[in-house]
Amino acid sequence: MPFTLHGLPVSQGIAIGHVHLVSHALLEVNHYHVAPKHLKDEIERLNDAIATVQGELVGLKAATTSGQAHSEVGAFVDLQMMMLADPMLTDTARELIQSRGCNAEWALVQQMEQLVDQFRQIEDPYLRERQADVVQVVERLVKVLLGHPGHLPPKRRDGLGTIIVAHDLSPSDTIGFRDHNISGFVTDVGGPTSHTAIVARSLKIPAVVGLHHVRDLVEDDELVIVDGTRGIIIVAPDEHIVEEYRLRRSELEIERSKLNRLRDTRATTLDGEVINLLCNIETPKDMAAVKTVKADGIGLYRTEFLFMGRDALPDEDEQYEAYRTVVKAMPDKPVTIRTFDLGADKALDRAHSRVEPNPALGLRAVRFSLAEPKMFLTQLRALLRASVHGQLQIMVPMLAHAQEIDQTLKLIEKAKAELRADKVKFNESVPVGGMIEIPAAALALGMFIRRLSFLSIGTNDLIQYTLAIDRTDEAVVHLYDPLHPAVLKLVAGTISAGARFGMPVSVCGEMAGDPEYTLLLLGMGLRNFSMHPSNILEIKQQVLRADLGELAPRVQRILKMDEQARVREAVERLAL
Ligand code: PEP
Ligand code: MG
Repeated sequence: MPFTLHGLPVSQGIAIGHVHLVSHALLEVNHYHVAPKHLKDEIERLNDAIATVQGELVGLKAATTSGQAHSEVGAFVDLQMMMLADPMLTDTARELIQSRGCNAEWALVQQMEQLVDQFRQIEDPYLRERQADVVQVVERLVKVLLGHPGHLPPKRRDGLGTIIVAHDLSPSDTIGFRDHNISGFVTDVGGPTSHTAIVARSLKIPAVVGLHHVRDLVEDDELVIVDGTRGIIIVAPDEHIVEEYRLRRSELEIERSKLNRLRDTRATTLDGEVINLLCNIETPKDMAAVKTVKADGIGLYRTEFLFMGRDALPDEDEQYEAYRTVVKAMPDKPVTIRTFDLGADKALDRAHSRVEPNPALGLRAVRFSLAEPKMFLTQLRALLRASVHGQLQIMVPMLAHAQEIDQTLKLIEKAKAELRADKVKFNESVPVGGMIEIPAAALALGMFIRRLSFLSIGTNDLIQYTLAIDRTDEAVVHLYDPLHPAVLKLVAGTISAGARFGMPVSVCGEMAGDPEYTLLLLGMGLRNFSMHPSNILEIKQQVLRADLGELAPRVQRILKMDEQARVREAVERLAL
């Protein structure tokens, strides 16, 4: 019997496909069969994980002998090293992969269960307790294995895609889907501005999040329809429902192709003001979509995705290549590259990350960069080197304090001095701007305006921090409201301060790509909108219908309102 589940629509479109259950809960791993031709790779994957865990344990052991960690830890480390070297665990797991085609995680967990059972039978309490060490060592291995994208099912022959169903997905998992035939994804948790949702939109994968217990309600390989526009999934649909959704999918495609006619039209308001519509990208691969919509530049390149989901950090040359590719693809157009915004839900490496009491308020973005000056300097050198190829601008995320920008500017000077000494060319006057995404920054703009060349409002975080709503937590997502009067005051205040001091201001949060807010932002005086490429044409359509002379006074009146419901109603009326 078909049934429907309701969640939050975070990435538009309709996907019809078969479920692939993904689990990231440790030891509650995904079970799947690996095709015979991939068995060697799967064993290699296990071997790599074993080597990584061996390295971790050697590091831990060294910390105990040098006094940086408790000496009792040493004994456990020795035991775990023994378990890891024990052929009963790892050789048998390899054997399970080879003979039965199990994926590495599944093979490990099966063998772990066998060993734990044997330990349970032992009389001696000390030896019986050793079952915990087997579990821990397998947990370590599974963690490392899950840190990699792993194997996704091969392309299906029936023309239908794969729908990823997970409790949660990290942005690096999502980015890992880029090269696979994934047509939709659904998760138990998450909100519309979580980074995972943003990546889904960037991959144009229909997605529904916040479905609570979806993983328990669907089965591997079951047919589902994901309606990313309405936020529902239909499980086990019959032929009629599938047919109806196929029709709806083609209607959506027709609407999109109508919008495509606006590709070559300049975004100009009815009263003749030219509006810049720029793109947000996550990797140089997104440039194809940017070119298709003929954007006016890149307003936000989220470079942290270059650092995530991999073992070793990208070196200066690899970064330079990525930045140069993007800059060269946009001749004569601005390309704003944000320094890595790592931390919070974009952790560098899940397996090694420190447990933080409150990641969104922790060592994130520029705070993380300044805590890792060597890594930061490498990026700044790469950015400066790429600056000779076009209009590159450097943007710093999550500023709240003047000293953060002072220290960053000092590091940029250091990078410049090093490059001069090495006789490497760069643009001496590369503009440096900052993101306004913490309320403190929006309320103390002077110190940023004095030090920087441009500002960009990150409404995703600005809303999160103003309203104290975790953007990744679906339990509070109904309170995440871009039209809260406090949010509007901070956004409007930043736009008007920019105009007063002649400083360019853009909005690069999701608000800029949502047609519901275009007229409001235009009326506040915004002239630079940066968004996902798939939103450009729809926002252009809004701009072409706008009359700024008429909008500005109406928006001023909205900014004086302090009841959310009245604000919403007045914003809706702007379009009439
Ligand atoms: C924002 O916070 O609005 C923003 C654009 O940055 P990110 O979504 O990458 O945090
Ligand atoms: Mg942000």
